[in-house]
Amino acid sequence: MEITEARAKAQDPVECPECGGPATPVHIVTWGHCRPCHTANSRSIQPLRW
Ligand SMILES: [Zn+2]
Repeated sequence: MEITEARAKAQDPVECPECGGPATPVHIVTWGHCRPCHTANSRSIQPLRW
């Protein structure tokens, strides 16, 4: 695969397996879900303390 093709693919929005929303392939590969899901997950794991 050419680098330009890979880059174009990296910009391709994919569907988040968790919420079905738009996500980038990078996030799917890194986190397994989109950014909102990742934020929600890290909040539930490490809740903010007041
Ligand atoms: Zn999601």
